[in-house]
Amino acid sequence: MKHCFLLLMVMCFLNASAQEPQTVITFQAGKFTLRVLSEGGGQGNSGLLKGATPEQLKKYLPDGTFPIETQVFLVRTPDKNILIDAGYGKNLFKNLQTLGLDESKIQVILLTHLHGDHIGGMLRDGKAAFPNAEVYLAEKEYDYWLNLGEKGAVARKVFEAYKDKIHRFEPIELVEIENQTDELIPGIQAIAAYGHTPGHTAYLIRSDESKRLIWGDLTHAMPIQMPCPEVALSFDVDSEKAILSRKLLLDYVLKNGIISGGMHVAFPAVGKVSKGKTEGYAFEAICLCEGL
Ligand SMILES: [Zn+2]
Repeated sequence: MKHCFLLLMVMCFLNASAQEPQTVITFQAGKFTLRVLSEGGGQGNSGLLKGATPEQLKKYLPDGTFPIETQVFLVRTPDKNILIDAGYGKNLFKNLQTLGLDESKIQVILLTHLHGDHIGGMLRDGKAAFPNAEVYLAEKEYDYWLNLGEKGAVARKVFEAYKDKIHRFEPIELVEIENQTDELIPGIQAIAAYGHTPGHTAYLIRSDESKRLIWGDLTHAMPIQMPCPEVALSFDVDSEKAILSRKLLLDYVLKNGIISGGMHVAFPAVGKVSKGKTEGYAFEAICLCEGL
């Protein structure tokens, strides 16, 4: 059984590389097809972190750096093409083209938050890059960037470019998730994951019995923030809240065995959260293909 699984994994990688560039990977959630579209990446350094002890840094980031990539998620439901965030727009359009999707075929954009590495791809020459997309974001996130002064300039350009296509909503608190049937759009629930920014939102995707969580910027420095989720980022708007959200959501996916992915998790950026060997959590990236 184990060998069979490994063989399928290998076939999965071969299959993916034969049909798609390495910047795209495909996995299923019931009737939905999800794709991770890579925007590329680089190295972050420990100076970006807050609250890490010298021992933790020595143990988990011995050279003081960590890989940080940016991903966009594409969800194809039976009747919609949905982007979760839009990255910088670096590889996004090329990746969509490879999948036979031009910008006009994206009907929905769900935003986790409005940092430039998540909304840069929404604009082209200052105009809406996705002319037919309805855009969804948390009310709190909208209010924050609307009133932020100079730092909110790109976000406000997005508001202007998409005007009446902007939909603001109140995410569900995770503690209420089992009692809540509210879906933002069919098959997708928006979950409050506040802290990194005031309206930071994760998205729970459900189709048939399958659940997937796309957690946005719940983590940036995976090698240290998984074992030590109390390590924050210097530019979290509210690091205490960000830590709380990280622990709550990681506990939730761990307890429920939900395959998850994040915008700054290294490609393929989806996997399983487990208990860490000595502390905190661990993340094992996996490749999910049709039939697996
Ligand atoms: Zn980010």
